[in-house]
Amino acid sequence: MPDLKSAAPSAALAETSRYDILFEPVAIGPVVARNRFYQVPHCNGMGYRDPTALAHMRGVKAEGGWAVVCTEQVEFHHSSDITPFIELRLWDDRDIPALARMVDNIHEHGSLAGIELAYNGMNGPNLYSREVPMGPSHLPVATFTYDPVQARRMDKDDIRNLRKWHLAAVRRAKAAGFDLVYVYAAHALGFLHHFLSRRYNDRTDEYGGSLENRTRLLREIIMETKDAVGDTCAVPCRISVDELLGEEGLYREEVEDMIGLMADLPDLWDVTLAGWENDSRTSRFGEEGEQEPFISGIRRLTAKPVVGVGRYTSPDRMVSLVKRGILDMIGCARPSIADPFLPNKIREGRLEDIRECIGCNICVSGDFTQSPIRCTQNPTMAEEWRKGWHPERIRARTSEKPVLIVGAGPAGLEAAQALGKRGYEVSLAEAGTELGGRVAKEARLPGLSAWGRVAEYRKGQLHKLPNVSVYFDSRLDAETILGFEAPRIVIATGATWRSDGVGHRHTRPIPIAADAKIFSPTDILNGRLPVSGPVVVWDDDHYYMAGVIAELLAAKGLDVSYVTPASEASTWTRATMEQHFIQKRLLEKGVHIATFRSLDAIAADTARTSCVFTGRIEEMEAASVVLVTGRLPEERLYLDLLARRDDWADAGIENVTAIGDALAPATIAHAVYAGRRYAEELDEPPLPEGALPFRREIAELTP
Ligand code: ADP
Ligand code: SF4
Repeated sequence: MPDLKSAAPSAALAETSRYDILFEPVAIGPVVARNRFYQVPHCNGMGYRDPTALAHMRGVKAEGGWAVVCTEQVEFHHSSDITPFIELRLWDDRDIPALARMVDNIHEHGSLAGIELAYNGMNGPNLYSREVPMGPSHLPVATFTYDPVQARRMDKDDIRNLRKWHLAAVRRAKAAGFDLVYVYAAHALGFLHHFLSRRYNDRTDEYGGSLENRTRLLREIIMETKDAVGDTCAVPCRISVDELLGEEGLYREEVEDMIGLMADLPDLWDVTLAGWENDSRTSRFGEEGEQEPFISGIRRLTAKPVVGVGRYTSPDRMVSLVKRGILDMIGCARPSIADPFLPNKIREGRLEDIRECIGCNICVSGDFTQSPIRCTQNPTMAEEWRKGWHPERIRARTSEKPVLIVGAGPAGLEAAQALGKRGYEVSLAEAGTELGGRVAKEARLPGLSAWGRVAEYRKGQLHKLPNVSVYFDSRLDAETILGFEAPRIVIATGATWRSDGVGHRHTRPIPIAADAKIFSPTDILNGRLPVSGPVVVWDDDHYYMAGVIAELLAAKGLDVSYVTPASEASTWTRATMEQHFIQKRLLEKGVHIATFRSLDAIAADTARTSCVFTGRIEEMEAASVVLVTGRLPEERLYLDLLARRDDWADAGIENVTAIGDALAPATIAHAVYAGRRYAEELDEPPLPEGALPFRREIAELTP
């Protein structure tokens, strides 16, 4: 059996010095960042509900070397809340301790703490506070859920009040210990952006009309903030350089003029694209550094440092951005989530240890689903306090007993590398000839190449672990495993896409004629593709797979219809901010999208569909049908081993555990998490009856 470790180790160490420029200190107003790594504000679905978990998550970033670590948006007055999203709040003094805890965790590691004060205005329907939302104009609230609520046009008293509230929050932020207090005017997500943009601002007073008028409130707020923080805090301003809407929205030339009006007023410019979906594109729709053309040139307009993002994980790219005078500080949200230790790894020359963000936006889905952030690459994200996990450290083993892992997909690979780091003897057996399981295959689909990083990072870690042996071409059965003499067996054999139509809508197989040409994503991933059209792609999975397959087949010149019972293609990708991009791409590729239709039966050349509301039937021509529905765990091996429980003692087996897709198919992030969880919990004493497997914070009851 070939052994993976025979490959040559990587040699990045010698090249450390060319990254020294990234570790130069940068003055930001009255404070000094120890290097150029800047964790820009990012949401995380924890906010006011999970303050201690959040404080620890930010603390780990500081420990990993980010010179500046910022909060997510922090609502600074109850008259603008963004419920149901869970962000931080600074509504009164009682919110200070939770924020101070975060600041302390950041300061403990020598980093600066930044706070992004936000007043969502017409982006917040105020579902919690029930106050009337306010904005520059009378307009329906700008929520993607089209809430039936309007924002009221602010009068002069409202503007005066808002300035007062902002100032009160600035003072509270200072009391909490923050070193940078943001004035947030970006992403079309708050009152300041709304005042800047003609799209939202139809005022005829001194706050509307000319550029000078539309920037008035922003200038007033920056000046007041600077006065209030004195000489101990910096005041960055976050602004969007383009809304990508042409002259209908904010556009580059106009924003240049805006910056010109207040070039050196803030202590730092944090430049983004608007809206958030343009600023945080997935790798499927934007490469590393996609924003560069939009942010270059800004630095010429100001003497103050400029920070910008671009899902940067390449240190050479970062150096080039600094050397070419595009950025002073490398802004990162997602790369800091995937690898909180990115700066330290670059400083130490451990480039091969960088866990590169794959640009999947599963992290963003935490915010959109109001659940603690999770990351495909970093399973410890949000578990730093909840479970005591750490992205770089893991407890040493507490027994000598070896582990056999079957299946080298994301679950098996993560379990192997994490157990290997704990010091266990691990054997990883893979039926195929490559590592990565589903990610290795999916990375070959259009737009998903960056997903291969899930396997690449773990492969790199395994290279360094002499106690982990990898066996390819090793499809194991129960008999072989009983003879392997490993006391712990992990089944990570993955899952197979179904071909019987069972998914979210149909919980029983649908009628399929024997001579119908049916394909599943498993077929496509294994290279078996439809060769003749018209092709019907039935999406009852609702994540990315059906869209990617439709795109692939359309690119091959086939006539493709995409049928979904949902209101839009790949509807769950709203949570990853991709839905709009996916639907646009499918339409541009000529894919016909049929929404609110159920695929109910398949004959040789036709597919029977029905309207999900009326049941009205429509036959569609279909030479081939791709069923993107549910999956079935590859659990044969697991069940065979359970059936032979009586033989375990003789074989020295103590336990057999199924993890990842082999237990229940889900996202790649779930599989990586499952692998990590197995490794973290091995040899841990069992939890007391009824105990939760994670920590949670419970609000203290008001007497
Ligand atoms: P997960 O997402 O849970 O990690 P994947 O489907 O990505 O699951 O990976 C499962 C891996 O397990 C695949 O690479 C597959 O080749 C391998 N595999 C499946 N059955 C066996 C088996 N009996 N012996 C060894 N490897 C197996
Ligand atoms: Fe990157 Fe995906 Fe992790 Fe987000 S979830 S940080 S996009 S790898």
